[in-house]
Amino acid sequence: MMKAIEYLLSIDLNYIVIGLIAVFFTLEHLLSTQFSFTDRGKHFWNSFLFQIVFLIGNIFWAIAFVFCIEWLNQKEIGLFFLIEIPVWLKLILGVMLLDLATYWFHRISHLVPLIWRFHRVHHSDTTMDSSSYFRSHPIEVLFWFGSAPILMSAIFGFDLLTIGMYFLVATPFLVIEHSNLRFPSWSDKTIGLVFTTPNLHKIHHDQDQYYTDSNFADIFILWDRIFGTFKYKPAEEVKLGLVEFDEPKKQTFWYLIRSPFINIEKI
Ligand SMILES: [Zn+2]
Ligand SMILES: [Zn+2]
Repeated sequence: MMKAIEYLLSIDLNYIVIGLIAVFFTLEHLLSTQFSFTDRGKHFWNSFLFQIVFLIGNIFWAIAFVFCIEWLNQKEIGLFFLIEIPVWLKLILGVMLLDLATYWFHRISHLVPLIWRFHRVHHSDTTMDSSSYFRSHPIEVLFWFGSAPILMSAIFGFDLLTIGMYFLVATPFLVIEHSNLRFPSWSDKTIGLVFTTPNLHKIHHDQDQYYTDSNFADIFILWDRIFGTFKYKPAEEVKLGLVEFDEPKKQTFWYLIRSPFINIEKI
């Protein structure tokens, strides 16, 4: 089992992302979709440009990130160094605790106006498909990707294997959650008791702020249920995006990348 996990973790995450996007982008072309599109190609490239900027930034950020985690591990900082715990349990707890940290970081980004300026780029999408997975401001992604695991590693003593495991589990969830496919409502009442389903994440993308400020979790919707932010409405009633970003000129890559530095009144 550990050998299989180690093999999966040895695969570059970028290959896994490319594979997932290729599969779901094709399925969205073949199957019945939930949201309408005028130009899927344009939407894809608009989202993909965010990933290119992120990858360039990540070349430098990843070096600092690995250095920080290895330094913390060498100094044996964190709770996991104080207790004897099997590797498999450490991995499960690591994925759960990192998802819990992401839940709170995400919740804070809706509360703090300065952070929301960056996070609203992800919410501004007026339609959605699997490529919307890429659509986040690179400054936001690099900041959260780095700081949440470093902070959690300083508290719990996570190593690079545990953090790699979290990204390995979270990435398919995030791609599928944004895919423009029809998922049955029974999945929300069964799988959705514990895990974030695509319908539940789409509620988070609703224009109505009552729903935007709900269903923050990436993997375990359990966190929203525990901390009182779980909300539900049928997927077909979801209207995506943010009213203040509705105009086509506010949906271009260049506008969105500059948007955190522009005063845009919330409607
Ligand atoms: Zn959000
Ligand atoms: Zn999303």
